[in-house]
Amino acid sequence: MRIWDIPPEYLDRDHLLGEHRELHALWVILVDKRTGYRHHPETLRWVGKLGALHRRHEMLAAEMQRRGYRHESPLDWGAVPPGERDLEQDEQLLTISEQFALLRRKGGLLSPPPDLHERSAPLEGLSETSGDSASNDNVSDR
Ligand SMILES: [Zn+2]
Repeated sequence: MRIWDIPPEYLDRDHLLGEHRELHALWVILVDKRTGYRHHPETLRWVGKLGALHRRHEMLAAEMQRRGYRHESPLDWGAVPPGERDLEQDEQLLTISEQFALLRRKGGLLSPPPDLHERSAPLEGLSETSGDSASNDNVSDR
């Protein structure tokens, strides 16, 4: 069971449809509190992040439709608890480049990966510039 963290447009047909199928299985486990695969690492990283899982599903469904595959299995946004709606998936079992390498080994990559290294990592050290005093109209000092 695996939910990829790379853009769906890079997945070949088998891997796109496979991930979509597994995402639905994972959704049932999490929403209906099923016991199967409950302790699988892939399951665990989505606990409390149903909103992010729903967004991943929308990405997969959009890519399926773009390719002309049928998609008739929408997920119910109403099943996502309000506290889980805005949370993003910030935990990966493999890095993005490891996922590309694994897919390439399996022959599941549609095209060469772009340079996505750690693009999804949160930006650190983002602080507001404390330049409030810059708004003083001191234009006349020359
Ligand atoms: Zn679906």
